[in-house]
Amino acid sequence: KAKHAGRNRHVRFDWSMKERQNRAYDLEMGLRNALANGELELHYQPIFDTESSRITICEALMRWRHPEMGWITPAEFIPVAESSSLIEPMTAWALQQACRDAMDWDEDIRVAVNISPALLRTDGLPRAVMTALLESGLKARRLELEVTESTFLEDDRRTHLILGELRRVGLRLALDDFGTGYSSLGSLRTHEFDTIKVDQSFMRGVGESSRDRAIAQSVAYLARALQVETVAEGIETEEQLRYARETGFTNVQGFVLSRPMPAAALLDLMEQRRGEVVDMAAVIRQRR
Ligand code: C2E
Ligand code: MG
Ligand code: MG
Ligand code: MG
Repeated sequence: KAKHAGRNRHVRFDWSMKERQNRAYDLEMGLRNALANGELELHYQPIFDTESSRITICEALMRWRHPEMGWITPAEFIPVAESSSLIEPMTAWALQQACRDAMDWDEDIRVAVNISPALLRTDGLPRAVMTALLESGLKARRLELEVTESTFLEDDRRTHLILGELRRVGLRLALDDFGTGYSSLGSLRTHEFDTIKVDQSFMRGVGESSRDRAIAQSVAYLARALQVETVAEGIETEEQLRYARETGFTNVQGFVLSRPMPAAALLDLMEQRRGEVVDMAAVIRQRR
């Protein structure tokens, strides 16, 4: 094992690595101004109830329009924000913006905000959540925090206290990208979650792979036993949608139903759908 680690420590220097470092540096410098300059935006992706086909949750996904580099994906800038201290003010802003936006929606629709696992060890998070709720007037039960499973979630005392504190305020906790971490079952055992979001990589394979199907079915079963909600993430095809419903996932999210969109476009969509209950099977047929 030591031999292995030793080998990995001698990373060869090459120019592409240098370029990556430069870009990371540019991004970090850019991010410092992004908040103040209003370059960050939240887009929302609706999540649907598999039974009623109604929108039940909208997930806030951060977008950054860099003045020179154009749109930069969260896959690239979130890690940069996490490795600097910028993730804290960015998350505080996201919480405030998301709660404000959710005040325009129907009472029964929740808003979900992604929280970097490292923030679960800081007192700043409960404070940022309280500020966002008080400032917007949003009911705590309409706010859901999505936490990606990671080593931070393991039996860490501070994380435990902070998650407990947040739940007492009345908001909901979702375990994001379930199945991709080191100890998915461990996270479920140690912490109380209201929702499990099954990573899209599992849903991707349900058409071809009996292993992916077996895993998806087991998670749906586990969630029922724990009495928590489930979201099947990354549903791209009618086949996956049908599978998610049949397997008993309570909610579905994916491009086949809706892509993330700006807050104004989401309001239009909600307006169109108001009062009208769309049959999920009809959505499937319509897409054919
Ligand atoms: P996530 O929380 O798992 O969010 C779901 C991601 O899957 C989003 O990517 C969404 O656009 C994408 N997605 C949804 N449906 C489909 C589908 O059918 N097919 C495919 N291929 N993709 C789909 P996005 O917006 O690029 O975000 C990527 C990740 O960045 C998020 O994954 C989350 O971990 C992180 N992220 C985004 N916004 C924030 C934020 O405000 N704070 C933090 N800490 N992380 C964020
Ligand atoms: Mg998420
Ligand atoms: Mg996810
Ligand atoms: Mg993800």
